[in-house]
Order: sequence, then C-alpha cells, then structure tokens
Amino acid sequence: MRNRSTILLFALLTCIILSACGGQGATVTSTSQIPPTELVSPLSPLATPLESPIPTLIAFEPFDGGKAMEFARDQMDFGPRPTGSEAGRLTGAYIARRLAEFGWQVEEQPFEYLDTPARNILAARGEGSLILLGAHYDTRRRADRDPIDPTQPVPGANDGASGVAVLLELARVLNVEATGHRIQLAFFDAEDNGRLDGWDWIAGSRYMADHLQENPSLMVLVDMIGDADQQIYWESNSDPALRERLWTIAAELGYGDHFPPQVKHTMLDDHVPFLQRGIPAVDIIDFDYPYWHTTEDTIDKISAASLERVGRTLQVWLERGAP
Ligand SMILES: [Zn+2]
Repeated sequence: MRNRSTILLFALLTCIILSACGGQGATVTSTSQIPPTELVSPLSPLATPLESPIPTLIAFEPFDGGKAMEFARDQMDFGPRPTGSEAGRLTGAYIARRLAEFGWQVEEQPFEYLDTPARNILAARGEGSLILLGAHYDTRRRADRDPIDPTQPVPGANDGASGVAVLLELARVLNVEATGHRIQLAFFDAEDNGRLDGWDWIAGSRYMADHLQENPSLMVLVDMIGDADQQIYWESNSDPALRERLWTIAAELGYGDHFPPQVKHTMLDDHVPFLQRGIPAVDIIDFDYPYWHTTEDTIDKISAASLERVGRTLQVWLERGAP
C-alpha cells in the first residue's frame, strides 16, 4: 500500500511551490460515445461514418519513432491547439479517428471549464486489471515565457504533440493481449493554461479522476518527452517503485544516457489527480527544455529517436505484463 499522507504532503508541497492548486472545478457532464461523424476526417465537410474498425491481427511490431513523428506533424498541422479552439476540437477528432482505425473503443468525456467547452478523449482495449496511459493534447494559449512575443500561442510540438504522438504509435503497435491487462489511453484536454486568465493546471485529468468508473491499477503519464536533446530524470511526486521499473527497462534497451535514474524536478502534472486517489502513477517528463512555453516549441526541436526511446520502453514494459 502506498502512504497516502506522503502523497498528499507531496501534492500539498507542489501546490504551494507552484501556487496553482485549488480554484474552480469543472461542471459535470456525462461520458458519452463519440458519434460516428466525429470519427471521420475533421477537414471533410461531407463526412460519412467510418466503417467499423477491423480488429488488427496480433503481431509484434516495434514502436516506430518515424511513425510517431508523423502523428506529431499531423497535430502541428492544425496550428496551436488551446482548449476550446477549433484547432483543439479538430485535434480531438483526429486522435479519436486514429484510435478507431487502430481498433480501439473510443469515448469522449466532455466537460466545461470556466465557460469553455473541453473534452478528454479516452480509448480502451483488452481484458484484465486496468492500466492507464495519459498525455495532454491541448497547448498553452499564450507563450508567456517567450522573450519576444509572449502574447502568441505556444505551438506545442514538445508540450502537447509529443506525448500524444507516443500514445498513438503505441495504440498502433501494442500487443494488448500480451500485456494481460485492459489498457486505457487518456488524451487530456485543459492541462496547460495554468496561471493564465484565472485558469488552473490539469483540469482535464482532474475531471477524469473525479469520474472514474474503475480505478486503474497503475497510471503512466508522458509529457514533453520529444526533446531532441533528451534527458528524462525521475520526477519526485511519481511512485518510486514504478519509476524504477520503467527506468530499468530503458537502461536495458540501451537508453541509460537519456534516462538518468535520479530525481530532478517536482511537477504538478496530469498524474497528480491519480496519485491523490492512491493510484501508483509516474510522470515521464523531460523538463529541461529551453523552449518551454515559448513560440520556439516547434517540430524541429523534437526527434523520432527521442519519441522512440519512450515508446519502446513503455511497449516492452507493457508486453512483459507490466511487472
Ligand atoms: Zn505546458
């Protein structure tokens, strides 16, 4: 069992450090199936429903960083993707369409935050105890750390697209049956406007954690993992045992130089609402990124090799049964 008071203390300290906790809650709406018209190309005005996705054959295929980069580029083609924007809506539809193509059951979880429509995209597949993998797909509405133009939106190649790209490529290649688990993928909205216009951080993951129908046994978050100059340290709020298991697999795959097994940063990120419910959770995040919350967070700053290291680590861990 985890020590809940320790988790809560960590969370409290994090809140104090970042001064970003509390604030307004999201209003409640129910989880619903995405209507078929949402699953077709968002760019097609005469959309017709997709045929039922054909379950893909179970065959081992390694995570491909090049494919993940394609999924990152596809998101970047929508432009900046802040919560409530048309680009954000199109990105959500794109993610849902891809997941359905790869044979996953897709649901949307709409909610409202500070009068802004938002929605998490959820997908699941397989049987057994539940493992949740998450990433946020919204991008920050203003690049407030930009030295030249802090009023522009963040493009969000690393902070947004990279985590989603890894989960989409995992959705394509993962041998879910081999994991022995039910795998759920969560694409969170409303993560990244914290301390702008009265917004809090991580509204989408808080909403999901407040409306769980089944508690995941484990949760892993990927955020800002695409930096071409990649060093992913342990994050201090993360579950120590699960963190160590993941980093051990990364080292075994030859990625040790990119996964230093030492604590460096403390993050208020989408794993925290799950930790607060006693669910062991890890934030895989490379927070040493000079373009964070600037207009320079562009596709040239991330690399296929970086996405692949994270994706293969997760794939190997999961296909061994997530020990
Ligand atoms: Zn951010």
